[in-house]
Amino acid sequence: MYKIVSIPGDGIGPEVVAGALAVMNRLAEKHGFTIAIEEHPFGGASYDLHGEMLTEATLEACRNCDAVLLGAVGGPKWESLPHEHKPEAALLKIRRELGLFANLRPAKVYDALIDASSLKADVVGGTDFVVFRELTGGIYFGQPRGYDENKGWNTMVYERYEVERIARIAFEAAQKRGGRVTSIDKANVLEVSQLWRNVVHEVHRDFPEIELSDMYVDNAAMQIVRNPKQFDVIVTGNLFGDILSDIAGMITGSLGMLPSASIGKSHALYEPIHGSAPDIAGQNKANPIATIASVAMMFEHSFCMPDVANEIYQAIETTLAEGLRTADIANAGQSAVSTTEMTAAIVKNLGQ
Ligand code: NAD
Repeated sequence: MYKIVSIPGDGIGPEVVAGALAVMNRLAEKHGFTIAIEEHPFGGASYDLHGEMLTEATLEACRNCDAVLLGAVGGPKWESLPHEHKPEAALLKIRRELGLFANLRPAKVYDALIDASSLKADVVGGTDFVVFRELTGGIYFGQPRGYDENKGWNTMVYERYEVERIARIAFEAAQKRGGRVTSIDKANVLEVSQLWRNVVHEVHRDFPEIELSDMYVDNAAMQIVRNPKQFDVIVTGNLFGDILSDIAGMITGSLGMLPSASIGKSHALYEPIHGSAPDIAGQNKANPIATIASVAMMFEHSFCMPDVANEIYQAIETTLAEGLRTADIANAGQSAVSTTEMTAAIVKNLGQ
């Protein structure tokens, strides 16, 4: 049995999470495994109920489950709260408390949506790679930091153990994928990158069957746009990963299509990249695919069921090939389906 904590959150969160749970339930039925889904409030929804964005009860439930599925949090109603009560602070807290040190963002182009990319079809067609971004170290957290009238400073620092653990899971992922890892750094200029590179190569000794290459971050930004098909697994630090994963995501099309996973030693949280989209909340217009694809990542990474993950990706591909489009991915003049219609079609395409 798999214990899943569902955190629908705010705005379109509950709508897209409902779609993802429908897919999960269908797969459980089809393959005969049991999933227990426990719902908990988070973000604005939690603030309205309990006066705090993240309660100890929600956190405790997240600590004691096999995987967390999160919709999105935040919205205009809670924007004027003091910083420590804002949804962003709660998101950082949940990631920190669960020790989620790696953020995974796949860049996968669905054949039916090739024309939605800002790049040419022959460049993006067949793109399928994943970025492993280190999430809890690097320049966003290094000390000292600060600024005064004349100077601003931050510190990019990595400890050996931080590089080791993310390198290891990137190599492990490559074993189950195309067998190639590209480590991205700036070792020609930064000493911290030299350590990064040395440690990645040391960890590589445990994975001799994996092909490892190094790439400077400036070149990587260019290569992702020039020839994204060359990548399988990218592993990189917090700052470089923040930028590169956005570039990688956008070559594949809309925000409503992009899933993510944040994983740690013993916990994992899956969520779409997008926010709570207050402009379309409650209208049954949101694209549920990013959240449904986040469930595929859950099956792959938390439950070691890559075949089930592929079933989900395949059902999404079939549904798109049938011509179904929510408003965000519809071409001009094309009629759009609702969140629930898109979900129902994907569930149907999962088969019996
Ligand atoms: P957003 O991602 O919510 O929306 C940006 C645009 O993309 C909007 O026009 C929206 O309608 C559209 N969009 C997003 N997801 C979509 C989907 N699944 N289907 C169709 N269209 C979709 O970003 P924003 O407007 O900058 O932020 C809105 C709120 O969400 C803010 O309160 C922000 O703080 C919060 N936010 C939360 C998260 C999170 O929970 N991880 C991430 C980003 C933003």
